[in-house]
Amino acid sequence: MKKSIAIILIAFAIASCTGQDKKKTNAPATKKATPEKQFAVQKTDAEWRKELSPEAYEVLRNKGTERAFTGKYVNTFEKGDYVCAACGNVIFHSNSKFHSDCGWPSFDQAIKGSVVYVQDYTLGMTRTEVDCARCGSHLGHVFDDGPQETTGKRFCTNSVSIKFIPAKK
Ligand SMILES: [Zn+2]
Repeated sequence: MKKSIAIILIAFAIASCTGQDKKKTNAPATKKATPEKQFAVQKTDAEWRKELSPEAYEVLRNKGTERAFTGKYVNTFEKGDYVCAACGNVIFHSNSKFHSDCGWPSFDQAIKGSVVYVQDYTLGMTRTEVDCARCGSHLGHVFDDGPQETTGKRFCTNSVSIKFIPAKK
């Protein structure tokens, strides 16, 4: 009789103890782990600087924007894929590219799961930033003034953030 009471008490002690432990360790761990766990490709700032051109680094890693009408893909309309210039993740198919007068390559949709969206409150505006889902690099912004006959979205993308891979003929 005494023995069984003792066992119950021990079991109780273990249960309440682990319960508390879970609470203690969970809260800070989830907060800390989220931004780091998010991207499959992770490099240090020094590694990115070494791999990317200064212009590409400024846009991809520092969230810069290239000047309108200066990017090399503004008027590219060949068949192929556009990949992230930092990690090679396929972001857009050429069939989603459309002519826009904004001065940056514009697409009406990104390949499903290839990008993540972040609210951007800089420059006194509220915009939706588009980042690569694989490495977190900055690609551009998405706006709701795209072609109404398709998605209505305009993925306004920096040429320096993407690389065009022509389709094989
Ligand atoms: Zn990437």
